[in-house]
Amino acid sequence: MNKGIFFDRDGVLNDNKKHVNKPQDLNLYDGVREALVLANEAGFDIFVVTNQGGIELGHLTHQMLYDIHLRLRELLEGYCVIKDIEYCPDFKRPSKYRKPEAGMLFKLAEKYHIDLGCSWMVGDRDTDITAGIKANCYTAKIGAYDPRATINESQLKDRNMNREVDLEAVVKEIIRQSR
Ligand SMILES: [Mg+2]
Repeated sequence: MNKGIFFDRDGVLNDNKKHVNKPQDLNLYDGVREALVLANEAGFDIFVVTNQGGIELGHLTHQMLYDIHLRLRELLEGYCVIKDIEYCPDFKRPSKYRKPEAGMLFKLAEKYHIDLGCSWMVGDRDTDITAGIKANCYTAKIGAYDPRATINESQLKDRNMNREVDLEAVVKEIIRQSR
């Protein structure tokens, strides 16, 4: 069995200032490459799980999202490997995949033989943490404190305050706690 880290996308890997509806809108936070390299080196498979209700709402198409994720992979090329990206296009439609449901995590776990009990969900919203807990993963919360999360970015002693989001500090703490 493998272990994985499931990263939410917006507000975790890239900034959240506006909706990402085209490749140029995707801007990685400082330190994200370093964070993902560390995760890979520590033996974690890297996944992205993202709600993309904008598809149901008509703000973007599956092809546009494909192009955005191609840019994401290009920005990380030569540094680390994203094993897979799973997205949920539903918004109002009932879905077992849309976070806070854990369907995307279960699907990836089955496909890649991931032991969810030693894996992590990293996100900036309550719904990310809820999905992680439902999947029996450890969880890391970016931004505002969440008492349910295993790790809170805002509480990390070595958090770099010059960074909007310090994913590197989060991944270091995940690795420390996973030993
Ligand atoms: Mg987010």
